[in-house]
Amino acid sequence: MSKIDLTTSAGAPVADDNNSISVGPRGPLTFDNHYLFEKLAHFNRERVPERVVHARGTGAYGHFTLSKSLSEYSVADFLQKVGDKTEVFLRFSTVGGGQDSSDYARDPRGFAVKFYTRQGNYDVVGNNTPVFFLNDPIKFPDFIHSQKKNPQTNLPDPAAAYEFWANHPQSLHQMTILMSDRGIPLSYRHVHGFSSHTLSLWNDKGERYWVKWHFKTNQGIKTLTDEEAAKQPPFGAQKDLVDAINRGEFPSWTVKIQIMTQQQAETYHINPFDLTKVWPHKDYPLIEIGQLELNRNVQNYFAETEQSAFAPSNLVPGTGGSPDKMLQARMLAYQDAHRYRVGVNHNQLPVNAPRCPVNHYQRDGAAAGCPFGHGNQVQTSGANYYPNDRAGQGYPEPNPAYREPPMVLSNAVVDRYDQLSEDYYSQAGDLFRLMSADQKSQLTRNIAGGLSQANASIQERMLGYLHKADPEYAAMVKALL
Ligand code: NDP
Repeated sequence: MSKIDLTTSAGAPVADDNNSISVGPRGPLTFDNHYLFEKLAHFNRERVPERVVHARGTGAYGHFTLSKSLSEYSVADFLQKVGDKTEVFLRFSTVGGGQDSSDYARDPRGFAVKFYTRQGNYDVVGNNTPVFFLNDPIKFPDFIHSQKKNPQTNLPDPAAAYEFWANHPQSLHQMTILMSDRGIPLSYRHVHGFSSHTLSLWNDKGERYWVKWHFKTNQGIKTLTDEEAAKQPPFGAQKDLVDAINRGEFPSWTVKIQIMTQQQAETYHINPFDLTKVWPHKDYPLIEIGQLELNRNVQNYFAETEQSAFAPSNLVPGTGGSPDKMLQARMLAYQDAHRYRVGVNHNQLPVNAPRCPVNHYQRDGAAAGCPFGHGNQVQTSGANYYPNDRAGQGYPEPNPAYREPPMVLSNAVVDRYDQLSEDYYSQAGDLFRLMSADQKSQLTRNIAGGLSQANASIQERMLGYLHKADPEYAAMVKALL
């Protein structure tokens, strides 16, 4: 290999990278140490703010291969042709811990997929659980605070977590999944992924369908108990994924969807937009649509995984959102988080850059580049406003052919709606009832371990919710308490 000169960030060769310039061998440094200053100044700025949630993660590239055309439901370009391959980037994460926490927390796992389609990036930003603790985003900061470290001791605080859950029965279903044997995955390869939210697809007739995405692991579900997890190295899941891909043992997931028509949604006994609920498989069976495989590690963790910017608002023609309140808040919050963490031009970084041309009239901002990454972000000179008189001369114009069909809401009245009268118990009970005796025992022991640290009033309220889910569920936890 040929010798490579060390350079400054401006590309100038560096003669000495071991010694600063000083006034004599024992004297102070001088002001012409601009190379030293550059090094220290850059070092000071090596971190971007870590994500408040999902801080600890690992990502890899791969492909989604379509095995069933969805042309009946959607005009989305990447969902038309059987055999079509779309590049993806998938980031797994834990939720509550900071970057210095363990891969083996009892915590949901983030499962965020970026499909680099020919018509822009489509992000399905979900978890390894089909539901969530909340169905109104106004509670999200409170919920996360209650699961994070105690503000005074900076230690985990199970009593606070249960205090939140005791005041929010809508969390019961997700809490049951979290405390079950599936609460600590063995690795990121051994988890399912879910859009969790209800999303939508729309076709060339302007018909909209509600859809839930399921990514079923082909490696099988494998999990750890609390005792087993405590013995793992903190970075074990990251290592497992990187090593498996390096060995050529590419992890894969069978991709399935559930589909509901708008008409069905209107009369379904479950609110299909309530993120605390699943659509039971017997009502809406899973339809297999393809395979997702991860086969390429990142080259630089910070540049790619840390700066990857997933956003549920990254939609492409033929796809859309839904009235799910949590989804709508995330459509704002995720973009906002990336602007804060990575900057307004985060979509110009290679990991985030679409694999198709990007043409718009947004201008400037920190780190605006041309070319940057894939070289497809052109900040054209000339007209930087729309409309202009240069249509057909290389200046972009909106295309009405991509117009999303309207979302119909009947008899809607703008107000604040209390969702407390919802049934938050039946589906938690359904899950409990499908568990084996060993799974029930693990679940109830995990709950009793944390709940025993909360006060009597919290315990009583929690037992009340568990009883509504299934009397046996409550009795088992009560006996352990
Ligand atoms: P089904 O019997 O058709 O499906 C049960 C589902 O539960 C399967 O997907 C199974 O996944 C999954 N499961 C089993 N154990 C656990 C666990 N400890 N944590 C999370 N998921 C688990 O029943 P229904 O569709 O009627 O749903 C019954 C309950 O199953 C729901 O209330 C919900 O809690 C849970 N569930 C339902 C899902 C859905 O989309 N309908 C999705 C995931 C969970 P696997 O095939 O990998 O064993």
